[in-house]
Amino acid sequence: MADPQPLLELQRLDSEADALRARRDALPERALLGEREAEMAALESQRNGAKERELALGRDERHVETQVTDARAKAQEIEATLYSGKVKVVNELKALQVELRSFQQRQREYEEAELAVMGQQEELATEIAALDARGAALASEAGSLHAALAAAEAEIDAELTRLAAARAAVVVELPAAVLASYEKLRAMPRLKGRVVARIEGETCNGCHGAVPIAFASRFAQQAADTTTECPRCGRLILH
Ligand SMILES: [Zn+2]
Repeated sequence: MADPQPLLELQRLDSEADALRARRDALPERALLGEREAEMAALESQRNGAKERELALGRDERHVETQVTDARAKAQEIEATLYSGKVKVVNELKALQVELRSFQQRQREYEEAELAVMGQQEELATEIAALDARGAALASEAGSLHAALAAAEAEIDAELTRLAAARAAVVVELPAAVLASYEKLRAMPRLKGRVVARIEGETCNGCHGAVPIAFASRFAQQAADTTTECPRCGRLILH
């Protein structure tokens, strides 16, 4: 039911639109989406760190693999010399055996180091897979929240469009000066959008203060379609 007083109807429409805009800003999906996006950003930087470690481990792995290959080749070379029959001097043979054992020992150490690196690579691959799974779950949640937010916003926007059309229809009924006073008062934060009031007895129901008797009686004699301002709070007083 539209209020017979266009000014009151205008205030009602504007208050309803304010409430809708506040609800639009405070939609829970918006806050949740923000949380998910922050989590996704944190996860992304964690994943970048893991990928850097993966590259470093790859370099370590190639390096230690070269060391294994070199030590093995060197040991094989010494072994070949040792059993070639070309070296006959006992001390030289003994020296070669010492050298062979040394390279074989080094080869085993490098092989162990290589296994350790490969173990770290496996752990890291598991870690990255877990991050990716979490990332996919977050992306899916964010997608649902996006859709829910868009739907809730569209619903409110349709309602705001309807209110704007109703407002336009009410505004044409108001004298320009009254509309200008209304807009000026609405822009005052202290009135919180409640800018239209009535005089009840000798009290303004906007500020709940008593108005001067002379004002009240003068106002009572004015035409019913005129508007004036409360001398206390400045609100537009309706008959
Ligand atoms: Zn007042």
